Amino acid sequence: MSGALLQTQDWGIVGHEHTIDLLRRALVAQRVRHAYLFTGLEHIGKTLLAQRFAQTLLCTGGPDPNLAPQNPCGVCLSCRKVLHGNHPDVHTIARAPDKQFILIEQVRALQSDSARKRLEGRYNIFIIQGMHEMNVQAANCLLKTLEEPEPNVVLLLTAPDPGLLLPTILSRVQQVSMHLLTTTQIQSALEQRWEVETQEAALIAALAAGRMGWAVQATEDDNLLVERGEQLETLTGLLAASTVQRFEVAQRLSGDADKLRGILELWLLWWRDMVLAANNSLDLIVNVDMRDPIAKQATQVGPVEAERVVRAILRTMEALEQNVNARVALEVLMLDLPTVR
Ligand SMILES: [Zn+2]
Repeated sequence: MSGALLQTQDWGIVGHEHTIDLLRRALVAQRVRHAYLFTGLEHIGKTLLAQRFAQTLLCTGGPDPNLAPQNPCGVCLSCRKVLHGNHPDVHTIARAPDKQFILIEQVRALQSDSARKRLEGRYNIFIIQGMHEMNVQAANCLLKTLEEPEPNVVLLLTAPDPGLLLPTILSRVQQVSMHLLTTTQIQSALEQRWEVETQEAALIAALAAGRMGWAVQATEDDNLLVERGEQLETLTGLLAASTVQRFEVAQRLSGDADKLRGILELWLLWWRDMVLAANNSLDLIVNVDMRDPIAKQATQVGPVEAERVVRAILRTMEALEQNVNARVALEVLMLDLPTVR
């Protein structure tokens, strides 16, 4: 999202009004907490919200230069630096692509930063993306910062679900949950702000299943829809495949851990559609461009089997969150899929 889209009185975020209001009220009352945890599905907009909050906390475009305004102005030097990721008082950590966890060294580096005097703004802000990917050792180290926070330090954590974090962490953060948007909200935002044609906007909004971030990515990157097509082809092909062929797919998919969660979310949406179709509710499906194949397979599979697969996919996602070997987890799922010839 570009800075030009940001207007006064606006955080440049589609929907999530209640969530933004909660943060605004803290700003107005000058009761900003030391730590916030933003939770919600992948691509729902957790990091964007954290970034906008950081922008607001540091914005110098407000009426009183000593206080954070209610909204980021989007044009002051501070706002622009946060947007471009080069504000000296905003530090972001996330799991490195080649690592399994956020490591204790990263947390220690953050703590030495937080001990340092702030440089430019009112706050020293630490954004921790994917808090659930922090191992116990690193999380325990972070607890020290949460228990005895430096004045003016604000931690903004993100995670898909609060249940994935240690209770000791949860008890020291303000939880801010983000909810799914409606298809109509997403479609009209795509048409008005991103100037997407009505028909394409309708398709992307349906596929986004409530996640604005996914919709924006699909709008800006054609490959996402192409990839979705390929992944669905793999998925539907599995029903007629032999166990050996299924295990080959399991092996291939387990090699790309970063994509795996997204693929399983796609499979989950597909199989939820199968449940709907098998229960004569084809009008409610998400994958609106695949009505015919969904209707056909749903008739072959039936509602009971379709529901069983939904549960199997959810179990697989849970197992992966708990760092069960991805290949083993996928092989179990492969055996759970019904066979259709
Ligand atoms: Zn500003």
